Amino acid sequence: MSYKAEYIWIDGTEPTPLLRSKTKVVADGEEPGIWGFDGSSTNQAPGKASDCVLRPVFTCMDPIHMGENKLVLAEVLLTDMSPHPTNTRAEAALVAAQYADQDPWFGIEQEYTLFKGTRPLGFPDSGYPGPQGPYYCGVGADDVYGRPMVEAHLDACLRAGLSISGINAEVMPGQWEFQVGPLGPLDVADQLWVARWLLHRVGEDFGISATLEPKPARGDWNGAGAHTNFSTKAMRENYDAVITAAEALGKNPDQHIAGYGHGIEDRLTGAHETAHYSEFSYGVSDRGASVRIPWQVEQDKKGYIEDRRPNANMDPYVVTRLIVDTCCSALVGV
Ligand code: ADP
Ligand code: MN
Ligand code: MN
Ligand code: MN
Repeated sequence: MSYKAEYIWIDGTEPTPLLRSKTKVVADGEEPGIWGFDGSSTNQAPGKASDCVLRPVFTCMDPIHMGENKLVLAEVLLTDMSPHPTNTRAEAALVAAQYADQDPWFGIEQEYTLFKGTRPLGFPDSGYPGPQGPYYCGVGADDVYGRPMVEAHLDACLRAGLSISGINAEVMPGQWEFQVGPLGPLDVADQLWVARWLLHRVGEDFGISATLEPKPARGDWNGAGAHTNFSTKAMRENYDAVITAAEALGKNPDQHIAGYGHGIEDRLTGAHETAHYSEFSYGVSDRGASVRIPWQVEQDKKGYIEDRRPNANMDPYVVTRLIVDTCCSALVGV
């Protein structure tokens, strides 16, 4: 019997791309191969030369349809098989290959906000819920909103075989987090994109939308980030390497901020557990710093660092490329 392959790709919507997908019926025993789509409908091509190419880069079982069905994450190419200008994976792959000998690992904390209609889940039709405090890792119908969908998403990710390391309710009502990793730079980014697609897809069944907006509610409400935890083999063995990586991130902070997601200035205000986007800092246990060294890492004198700056709506191919480039070039020979 034939099976369904759901091809997923990243479009050309600006300033923040969207996920797209369509279904290909594949004959039993055949692999999902090269495919194509109409780039003029995704801001990726003009109507007169609309064909774009999909090349599979990551395949897993389809946890929605089960059986032999598959999810196929594809990168977008031009018809001459070169990377499309919107294909950020291609450059990430080059940088990852350059520093593969340092064995970089990433764990990404993807925060997101659930919406019912135009309001975050848990926000009354008019006015606001009680101030932040009880919601983070909370329990009970007064404080927690959307758990059935959040758990359905986690189960879907696990059935698909994604490396999810945990989930938690966040500081703002209706806001949640899942973590992917630790994995190498391309693997973590591929899996995060598939996990995001599953989040939106599972939301369809619940009539709830998930947004990666970095500041979904104005006022005294936490924004949504994608804290990016990073280590290399050297950092996992000695503390000097941990400090070298943290200091390296302080050398070109503007380039990183520019690649960490649209609207980052609205989120990195210096309030709500963030450092101001214009001032780089790092510190042990410090959730008001740009980069945090977890207390356990200082105690063990080895481990990883947490870059707290990336927005929830960041592109993980860009963020992991920037971090590998900056930190691994500083760690050569350390
Ligand atoms: P926080 O305390 O900031 O909320 P989380 O537990 O949500 O931290 O996320 C920490 C992430 O760091 C997890 O995804 C975990 O897999 C990842 N992680 C753990 N060790 C390493 C490491 N050595 N290198 C990279 N990432 C790591
Ligand atoms: Mn977390
Ligand atoms: Mn969080
Ligand atoms: Mn964190």
